[in-house]
Parts: sequence; structure tokens; C-alpha cells
Amino acid sequence: MTMMILHNAVIVTVDPESRIYRNGGIVVEGDKIKAIGQSPDILQHFSHLAHQIIDLHAQILLPGFVNSHVHTSQQLARGIADDVDLMTWLHARIWPYESNMTEDDSYISTLLCGIELIHSGVTCFAEAGGQHVSGMARAVELLGLRACLTQSTMDSGQGLPPSWAVLTADDCIQSQKELYKKHHKTADGRIRVWLGIRQIMNSSDRLLLETRDAARELETGIHMHVAEIPYENQFVMDSRKVDHGTVTYLEKIELLQNNLLAAHSVWVNDFEIGILSKAGVKVSHCPAAAMRMLGFAPIREMLDAGICVSLGTDGAPSNNRMSIVDEMYVASLINKGREVYAKGSTDPTALPAETVFRMATINGAKSVLWDDEIGSLEVGKKADMVVVNPLSWPMVPVHDCISSLVYCMRTENIVSVICNGQWIMKDKKIVNVNEEEVISAAKHAASGLLTRAGITIPSRMNVL
Ligand SMILES: [Zn+2]
Repeated sequence: MTMMILHNAVIVTVDPESRIYRNGGIVVEGDKIKAIGQSPDILQHFSHLAHQIIDLHAQILLPGFVNSHVHTSQQLARGIADDVDLMTWLHARIWPYESNMTEDDSYISTLLCGIELIHSGVTCFAEAGGQHVSGMARAVELLGLRACLTQSTMDSGQGLPPSWAVLTADDCIQSQKELYKKHHKTADGRIRVWLGIRQIMNSSDRLLLETRDAARELETGIHMHVAEIPYENQFVMDSRKVDHGTVTYLEKIELLQNNLLAAHSVWVNDFEIGILSKAGVKVSHCPAAAMRMLGFAPIREMLDAGICVSLGTDGAPSNNRMSIVDEMYVASLINKGREVYAKGSTDPTALPAETVFRMATINGAKSVLWDDEIGSLEVGKKADMVVVNPLSWPMVPVHDCISSLVYCMRTENIVSVICNGQWIMKDKKIVNVNEEEVISAAKHAASGLLTRAGITIPSRMNVL
């Protein structure tokens, strides 16, 4: 196995003792971290064994970020649904777009999305539920990323495209079990397959229960949009006869478990925060997308209740920027600002930088049920790492490393990324695909797809 040493780095480990090495070194053997410590010690003990020794010149080394909610197959839909109401967003733009995708579109969309994720330091993501998982898997394998892939799954509800409306709960479970068999633990173990529930308004009870049971049987996770808008809670109260929304109902049918990743979870009350915490449900907070479409999620209350909250970008048509670096910044601001709205007084101490940084790293790993191997830099874990150059204008001077990473760092500060012990971006160059070729293929695929789907975007201002 090849051995590589990275030394002379500020290493932020996010280990249980929150250690930061001011002049640290790390040894990577194969796909794992073999040793970590002070640079001189690491060099003394491992130099003679290493195939490669890299001086990071006081740059910062971090655990790879985890994006716990992203729609990779929506990347070609960036900008097709900006400034429209939710029903237009869903019925007139996103569903026609997704239902007209080919597997090749999904492949190209995931390549394009993956490139943006890597540039922002993401090494692992949780697909929120998209089209053609086999296309996604091909792209993830090629890019060198780590991912939990999930098929978009719906079996009921208003306004579905005809090709989706015919699917039964059994069809949905069957196709996901086939995808699991085909792709789970492939790509050197970097790909896992999860079960998906797009959202409760498009799920029969049979689908919810069969998903719960299939996840138990396959020992995998469930990714679901939960409590996104007040109407959803009202719909659940009316149709399922419970006294509050989706979370209350999911508890009733025993779907609230520690393998559930609940995206958004904006409209939850105190009782529901309590039952989410008790069940060990993970929450993916997508602050930018929530501001666009959903509202303020009670993140501080969830964290105080002991819920594992991580960060997601959501998809390109609901956020536009697929950068977890931007999401850390936005999360810190929104949740401080929300204090005024929720409690009538300011509180700049809400969600401090170290909390937000943990959300993007170790909490992300816990959310995707992978914290035994990723989310922090520790001996025995997978070598998923990010090199940050703090010596350019967005970050200089760095007086307080962690706050600088959350409040100052831009995507542009991220220079290199390692996943599973392999470089997937080096000096800002994506290693395994040609970025220019993907961009041109994506432009071509996106315009073909919009034409097939019959989507036209009204022009703004006075276009001549
Ligand atoms: Zn989503």
C-alpha cells in the first residue's frame, strides 16, 4: 500500500477532543489515516516509509465536508424556477424537468453537481432523491466522491407526471431493492444506496410502512423531506387524523428512527423536536433553500434538544449555489437573525462558528450513518480531507481559525481535496474528469431536456 505524508499544516481534526494541531502532520496509507500528530514527530517516525512527502506550507487541513441533502439530478435545472411560487416550482418546472430526464442526463447532471461539490470541499453527499440512480452512481464512481444515493420515490398525490402516477408502493420498493443490489457498497465502498420518500404528500401509508421495513431489512438509511411547509402539516392533519404535522404522524407509524434523515424539518413544534431527539432522527438543515421557499427552521432548539443537525445545499433550482462553504456562512447568519424573529431580542452567540463547523463535518457523517469512517481526522478513519489556503484576500489575516473557516472562507480558498485516500482535486483542478468537457456536455443536455419537457422560462427586463 502506498504511504503519503502531509505535514506543516494547521490540522483541524474535529476528533472527540476537538484537537487542532498548529503544526501538524498526517500519514495516509491506502485509503485510511495511519497516524496524526505534530509535524516533527510524524516526519521522524514515518519519513523512511513514505512514498510521498508533501509540505503544506502552513495551509489548513480539514475533514472533507458532508453535504447531507443535495439533488444531483437537478443540477441541469439551475435557474429554471427562480422567483416562482411553490406550486409553479413543482408542477410547472421541476416535475416536468425530472420526469423527462434520461439516465445520461442524470449522469451529466451529477458530474456537473459533483464538480461544484468538490470545489467546495465536499467529499461525501446524501442524494435527496433523484432520477436514474444508475446514472448518478456512474458519475460518483468516476469523480471519486463518496455518496449515499437515493431514488426519488412517490406513489400518490396531485399533479404527478403520467409516467410517475402509475407507480404503486410495491413498484417503488422493488426498484429500490434492485438498485441496492446493483450499487450498494460499490466503487471501493464509496457508494451506498438508501431508500427514499420524496415527501408525505406523495406517499401512501403502504409506501411509508414498506420503506420503514425495507430499510430495516437492508440495514440502510431513509432520506425524506419532512415538514417543509405549513400546508404539508395541514394536509397530514386532515388526511391522517393527527393533531399536528408530519413528524407527529411518522412517530405514530414508527418511522421516526435513528436511520431517518429528515431534510428541512422547518415546521416542527416543541413536542415534535422532543420526539425527533428521542428517536435519534438526523436533520439536514438547508438554510439557503429554506429562505427561498420554506421558512426559519428551529435549529438552535433542535441542537439544544440533542438532535444531530447537519448541513445541505438542497438542489440547484432551490439554492443555485451548491457550495457547503456558502451554506456554513448562511446557516450562521440566518440562525442568529432568527433569534430576533423567534424571541424578540438579538443573540449573536446563537450557533457559534464551532457548532456550524461541526454541522458540516462530524454531524454530516453521523447524518449519513457513516461516522465510524468519516467526518473527522482520526487514526483508522478514511482519508477524506480538504486543503484550504488561508493566505489570500478572503481570509487574511487569520486571528481565529475556526471562525475564519465559517465566516470568511470562500469556495475559492479550497485548493485540494482527497477522498478515500485519493486526490480528487489538486491545486483547484478536478482530477478524474475534464471540467470543460462536462460543462459543454451539460449545456447541451440541459437545453435538450428543457425542450423535451416543454419548459420555457419567461424573460425578465427588456431583452433585445
Ligand atoms: Zn430537497
